[in-house]
Amino acid sequence: MKGLTICPTPLGNLSDISKRQLETLQNADIILCEDTRSTGKLLERLEIRRIDGVPLLWSYHDHNESQRLVSIMESLSEGKKVVLVSDAGTPTISDPGFRVVAQARLEGFPVVALPGPVAAMVALSASGLPSDRVLFEGFLPAKRGERKKRLLSAKESAATVLLYESPKRLRALLEDIGEIFEESPIVVGRELTKKFESYYSGTAKEVLLKLPDPVKGECVVVISKTSKQVDHVDAKKLVHQLAKAGVNPKSIRSVVREHYGVSKKDIFNWLEELKS
Ligand code: SAM
Repeated sequence: MKGLTICPTPLGNLSDISKRQLETLQNADIILCEDTRSTGKLLERLEIRRIDGVPLLWSYHDHNESQRLVSIMESLSEGKKVVLVSDAGTPTISDPGFRVVAQARLEGFPVVALPGPVAAMVALSASGLPSDRVLFEGFLPAKRGERKKRLLSAKESAATVLLYESPKRLRALLEDIGEIFEESPIVVGRELTKKFESYYSGTAKEVLLKLPDPVKGECVVVISKTSKQVDHVDAKKLVHQLAKAGVNPKSIRSVVREHYGVSKKDIFNWLEELKS
């Protein structure tokens, strides 16, 4: 297809490539990739032959995206088929690509995305944790203070939280999750779709004991909320809704306490938050 196509690639198992992904890569004029060498190898393994160097492989990453954007837009205006891939999984999901997609849309070029693997979704679907509401946080900041702030804010939501982390930092992340989410059930999915694929579940503290030391391989963390935490989040929302609708504090206390059994002090604090 002319225009920009976002093309996921396997997370680790080559058999996960789809027929459409293969055809798209085969018919591309230009493939934008994070690393031309690894994508070149992937094309070889998929038996996609480049005739006279076509598809062209253009590196596209955070450090060269501004300069690349001009030539990519020129190629799109010449009617070229430009395909965006990343090293593994779906481009733009904790991977480069957002700006080229935004620019192509802004300039009115056709943009489509093929369906394909996202590590967070693979882990979520196998986790057995609630998947009706999801908060994808990707990589949290490496600095502990900032990471904890983001975890505290994620805890405010009733949604199941999805995180990416490098194996080197996974233990530190799980320690922080243990402090903040306490008894909440979590699942760590490691090396998904690969030979040593494994899942570890329990509280963060339990998972820390089950994981090999050092942790090797790529990991996704899925955090659920205990029903008590979910009730707290819902109760707070109801307090805010009732207060904004002009219901008096006494009636709010009686309705919310009857429904959720939360303390008067919590309700007082949530009402105070609205004043600040
Ligand atoms: N775009 C990718 C996707 O669609 O999932 C994510 C790229 S991000 C730079 C890399 C992170 O994704 C890893 O650090 C890890 O947290 C997660 N990841 C990627 N592949 C994985 C796998 N096979 N098993 C577990 N986690 C994986």
